[in-house]
Amino acid sequence: MKVLGIVNQKGGVGKTTTAVNLAAYLAAGGRKVLLLDMDPQGNATSGLGLRGAEQGLYEALGEPARAAEYTLPTLQDGLFVLPSTPDLAGAGVELADDPDALTRLLASVGGYDLVLIDAPPSLGPLTVNVLAATDALLIPLQAEYYALEGLAGLMETVERVQGGLNPRLKVLGVVLTMFDGRTNLAQEVETMVRGHFGELVFWSVVPRNVRLSEAPSFSKPINVFAPLSSGAAAYKRLADEVMQRVEKI
Ligand code: ADP
Ligand code: MG
Repeated sequence: MKVLGIVNQKGGVGKTTTAVNLAAYLAAGGRKVLLLDMDPQGNATSGLGLRGAEQGLYEALGEPARAAEYTLPTLQDGLFVLPSTPDLAGAGVELADDPDALTRLLASVGGYDLVLIDAPPSLGPLTVNVLAATDALLIPLQAEYYALEGLAGLMETVERVQGGLNPRLKVLGVVLTMFDGRTNLAQEVETMVRGHFGELVFWSVVPRNVRLSEAPSFSKPINVFAPLSSGAAAYKRLADEVMQRVEKI
């Protein structure tokens, strides 16, 4: 079982969109996938139509042995979710002194090929738990002028975790999101990001595609909602690339 954290402390860069749709394509490709919604805003949970869940990840963190009871199936065969519930908002305080809580939870989760974690937009205790529990990180970057802003802070936190809590932590890759190929700016940003991160940047780039932003309000991942859209094609390619890299870690 490999654990992938989808992390960037900036909000609105495409973490949740990537977590949901990548997870859906990995499951559609035959893997058994668990998506953990670690963001108290619960966008991954509601985007998959599970907003009403009364118990979820928060309870599972407290009682790892009962995680399976809080895990919900989705429309996509092979994709399961430990949902975010309002209680998760208070977990930051409890997890501040307990950076291994998510690691303990994952130690008692079995039967999945992959676990994807949708992280919140901060470098606080929830994200530190994600970094501590994760084999590899996937970092979405919005293709805009300030794409790299704030990444130094993330990389410092990653190095601190590698030096202590989780020496095996790796960066699986960086994915450009909301890319608008018609603008020079987007192409300049791509050149800059590839120059900075080299081969870490996935070849698959996620275009700005309105179908990706509509899918959550229909409670569906993009492979179900609009399988012929450009957004769907991009996440399908990204899933293939992610699997090639995961097999090497
Ligand atoms: P994060 O989880 O990093 O905060 P989201 O995945 O929630 O970011 O994306 C922020 C907003 O942008 C959401 O409204 C989402 O629907 C929209 N969005 C994300 N990716 C795309 C895309 N490729 N094309 C169009 N809209 C997108
Ligand atoms: Mg999000």
